[in-house]
Amino acid sequence: MKIFLNPGHQPGVDSGAVNKELGLQECYTTLNISKRVKQYLEAVGYQVQMVQSDNLAGESPQYINVTESANTWGADLFISIHCNSAPRSDVRGVETLCCGLGDEGERLAECIQDQVVATIQKIDFNFPDRGVKKDVRGLAVLRATAMPAVLVEMAFINNVEDAKLLIDYEDEFARAIARGISDFYA
Ligand SMILES: [Zn+2]
Repeated sequence: MKIFLNPGHQPGVDSGAVNKELGLQECYTTLNISKRVKQYLEAVGYQVQMVQSDNLAGESPQYINVTESANTWGADLFISIHCNSAPRSDVRGVETLCCGLGDEGERLAECIQDQVVATIQKIDFNFPDRGVKKDVRGLAVLRATAMPAVLVEMAFINNVEDAKLLIDYEDEFARAIARGISDFYA
């Protein structure tokens, strides 16, 4: 199986969301966790490509085109890994976006969402399950990918409790995402 990982944003170009108090930048959190996901998937025999780039679908030609890379490689699954952010600082939890409901993308999203919820709620019982959602923004990584594709918003980087989970439990987030991908094929 060929799994394509896309850590959100690009260090030095687009940090993504940030938590200034804790010195946390989304682009590094997503990269750290994606590297671990890659290791766990390779350990069980999956082929993995990982591309982090400010060019999601051709809009910044000076960088690698993420969705074109996944399509050209013939990836079986595409997983974009992000941290969420909200205007309010008390919003928490994980949600997973997919392109449409009732297809394989939604099933993949359910597998990953369930694993992240189960894993992180063992650490923090109050960590909210925000569920699987159909993307309404027309996200390039979900729209321009030719295979089942999801975008995981692991936790809210601007919320102090969620941000501390992202700092202290990178490995748990990574294992959960990798287990969700394995569950999809189980
Ligand atoms: Zn993001």
